[in-house]
Amino acid sequence: MLAIGLHEERAFDMLRGLIASAGSRLTGSPGAEAALDHMRQVMLDLGFSNVHREPVTVNRWERGTETAQVEASPQRSAVELAVCALGGSVGTSEAGIKAPVIEVRSFEELKSQKQAARGKIVFFNQPMDRTILEPFRAYGANADHRVRGAAEAAKYGAVAVIIRSLTFRRDRFPHTGLMRYEDGVPRIPAAAVATEDADRLSGLLGENSELLIHLTLGCRDFGPVESANLIGDLRGSERPEEIILIGGHVDAWDLGPGAHDDGAGCVQSVEALRLIRAVGLVPKRTIRAVLFMDEEFGGTGGRFYARAPERKGEKHLVAFESDRGGFLPLAVGLGGSPGLIQKHQAWSPLIKSLGLVQGLVSGGGGVDIAPLAEQGVILGGLIPDAGRYFDFHHSALDDLAAVHPRELELGAIALAVTASIIAQEGI
Ligand SMILES: [Zn+2]
Repeated sequence: MLAIGLHEERAFDMLRGLIASAGSRLTGSPGAEAALDHMRQVMLDLGFSNVHREPVTVNRWERGTETAQVEASPQRSAVELAVCALGGSVGTSEAGIKAPVIEVRSFEELKSQKQAARGKIVFFNQPMDRTILEPFRAYGANADHRVRGAAEAAKYGAVAVIIRSLTFRRDRFPHTGLMRYEDGVPRIPAAAVATEDADRLSGLLGENSELLIHLTLGCRDFGPVESANLIGDLRGSERPEEIILIGGHVDAWDLGPGAHDDGAGCVQSVEALRLIRAVGLVPKRTIRAVLFMDEEFGGTGGRFYARAPERKGEKHLVAFESDRGGFLPLAVGLGGSPGLIQKHQAWSPLIKSLGLVQGLVSGGGGVDIAPLAEQGVILGGLIPDAGRYFDFHHSALDDLAAVHPRELELGAIALAVTASIIAQEGI
């Protein structure tokens, strides 16, 4: 599998095809449907069995135009800020919101200045902590501002929020992501601002704390629409009802083509199955690729998959998720009891021989497969080098050029090899 995969690098071709098949793959959009149609045809052309869609009800939201100008003083011309609406935000009126700004670094600081927040735009300007080695932890430590910032600020009478984009980079690309409102709290518009623009705004506020921001967000909510997860199998020859799942999510934020997040995981899942067929292996248990819908707006596809009527009579042994970018894979993660990793340590040298320096480690999992854990399914996943992931994450920079064909392929190979062993030996 290693030689075939590295020679052909088909995962990257698939990623190019997936991206070309759709504009934005935002949940509920026509682009997301086009991507499903395209990948369904890819699975059929590759000879997968049981290729089908399973319905998922998702919410459709669209962003529209988005602008922000700083009006520092009547004598100076306005300064444009690079902003984007956060996913799920309400829009402003067509005329937009013009209001003074209060800059804070934390919810505690906001609380301590709650009188001052009334009628203002709250600017959450907490950079991601560079001293945290694990990028997902640094991200997680700040993501609360994006998710809950609008609800917290609205409790104190704020009229909008702007959050500093969640990336280590300093550039002019805003990064979007999910935000949530709270019942009983006014719904105020929420935007992200690029890191360089956040620094600029902070500097301008230092000169003039009374400056105004004029924010216009054209986003709209269209309510529920029907969409789907996409499934394709290599049917097991001896125990077809026992399933090893490999999955990623086909929806993506709309600022870019979502190459790493999570086009990479989708094509690695499909490429893993293709590689297994290419070497002529007939798995004893079923190996399944699942392209989940709507991870970004809260994981609806994963929940629908776990409770779909099609699951009756199926027994999932392990589910692997690839949703940490298509970077150089370092390890295959496996959850379950600590003893499980110990029991299967013999797999580690084999995984290392595929270029994954850490081999088999404890870990993995993800939003889409998490609901399967309730059914006792062991969760695992691909663990790539995430050092650059947030450079691209949820922004216009997450495009094909950001993905390296060889690194992407190595992930597919590692998933194919691990899934094949489990398909033959069980776990
Ligand atoms: Zn993702």
